Amino acid sequence: MDIRGELLIGGEAFVGSGPGFQGIEAASGHPIEPTFPAATAQDLDRACGLAAEAFTAFRDTAPEARARFLESIAQNILDIGDALIVRCMAESGLPRPRLEGERGRTVGQLRMFAGVLRDGGFLQARIDPALPERKPLPRPDLRLRMIGVGPVAVFGASNFPLAFSVAGGDTAAALAAGCPVVAKAHPAHPGTSELVGRAVQKAVADCGLPAGTFALLFDGGRDIGQGLVADPRIMAVGFTGSRAGGIALMKIAAARPHPIPVYAEMSSINPVVLLPGALAARGEAIGREFVASVALGAGQFCTNPGLLLAIEGPALDGFVASAKAAMAETAAATMLTPGIAKAYEAGVSVLEDHAAVETLARGRAGEGLQGQAGLFSTHADAFLTHPELGDEVFGAAGLLVRCRDAAQLQAVLESLEGQLTAALHMVEADHPTVRTLLPVLETKVGRILVNGFGTGVEVADAMVHGGPFPATSDGRTTSVGSLAIDRFLRPVSYQGLPDALLPDALKDANPLKLWRRVDGAVKAP
Ligand code: NAP
Repeated sequence: MDIRGELLIGGEAFVGSGPGFQGIEAASGHPIEPTFPAATAQDLDRACGLAAEAFTAFRDTAPEARARFLESIAQNILDIGDALIVRCMAESGLPRPRLEGERGRTVGQLRMFAGVLRDGGFLQARIDPALPERKPLPRPDLRLRMIGVGPVAVFGASNFPLAFSVAGGDTAAALAAGCPVVAKAHPAHPGTSELVGRAVQKAVADCGLPAGTFALLFDGGRDIGQGLVADPRIMAVGFTGSRAGGIALMKIAAARPHPIPVYAEMSSINPVVLLPGALAARGEAIGREFVASVALGAGQFCTNPGLLLAIEGPALDGFVASAKAAMAETAAATMLTPGIAKAYEAGVSVLEDHAAVETLARGRAGEGLQGQAGLFSTHADAFLTHPELGDEVFGAAGLLVRCRDAAQLQAVLESLEGQLTAALHMVEADHPTVRTLLPVLETKVGRILVNGFGTGVEVADAMVHGGPFPATSDGRTTSVGSLAIDRFLRPVSYQGLPDALLPDALKDANPLKLWRRVDGAVKAP
């Protein structure tokens, strides 16, 4: 497949007529061919119009047909071969093994949603049969199933150019739900986006689906992204990026005559609690593991462990000594974009220059657009009075907060904004403290994990990759795992509809062979 700088709309590929921009080689900062002329307002209108038209037929496809469509996208992505990895390495600066793993994850997500569709549980079919004899009033026949919300706008994430971009988690969940997708490519990886977009477009054609089921738009500025969220035919938005960007899009969505939900994943510092028993038992090992996690992928993970909490005392010394040594050995790494590298430097400077913060160690110095890792320390008294110390520093930086006792550690956790993850390093002797912290953590984060770090998000049924604001705009949902489909579904109830007119999911004969909740109890097919 070629990269031609073309928009993909309605089964066609053509060069846009808006202002052009180019991808940037992450390592050197040099532009890469070709130029990507931006979409115009007319292109946007056409993509949204076709998506709205496609919705009727696409949402009506059988779950099996959508499952085959998702599998076809997965195969087409694999069929691009090494060209996808090579282009993605150049645009993102991420190393080959990481991107090959991410491609596997992208394909795995699409196939997981194919399984979700075949299983049929996402339809949440419920039947309350009529009770004509009920007194004082008869009960009508009521049947419920979920349907797609309508066309979805997806903003590709810079830090997951495959798994959370054009055919990433948001797109897979929306398509599985029966919602056409209009994707806005992240300008940091336009070539990668076009290759993947063509793979999706080919699957749409091969599966005989309406051409408006998928579109890919480019824009080096913000007009198209903002216009997409404002377009009355778009019914939901998936976004991963900055807090400012997410909030800007949420405001546009809320100000529409017909407001829509924005599922935005924004900022999280993912606290790691180092409990005294664990520090005494294996503080040095935890120190090394922490540095490996905070520096993974130049620290550009939304689940990066940016905040460490521990109670002061001799047990903490072993952790600090080994983390400092490991940090000093950590190589600088190329960051995703010049903007992200600059934002990282600015965030690190806030810590370095702060009167209440001590620099414990910096990693090896880098060159150009490489980020230099850093480990910093402050006291809980300062952390609680300087809210800026809790801001996300997107990159390989960690801040250790030294607490007087368990009560102060709990106070720090209570002061935090919403987070994607919290990690607890503990042994059995720490259970009583953890028991008091769990209720606090449950109100603050989407995932609580033990003796590990939040980087490495399993794509699974029981995964939650979400959390209270600002980790995400809506902490009731997840963007990773099979439950992600729920964001793009809504329930419809049918009262007294004759069997012949009911959707298959709710017909008496149960042709889809679903597990259904019938008259208050779950029934096998
Ligand atoms: P971003 O600047 O928020 O951009 C994400 C996408 O949204 C891009 O396509 C961008 O287009 C668009 N966008 C941003 N603001 C917009 C606005 N006001 N109106 C319309 N479109 C808008 O995020 P990024 O480029 O990925 O990285 C910047 C920072 O985001 C990082 O330094 C980091 O702090 C944070 N980040 C956080 C996570 C996380 O998961 N927590 C992940 C990635 C990034 P344009 O680029 O054309 O503006």
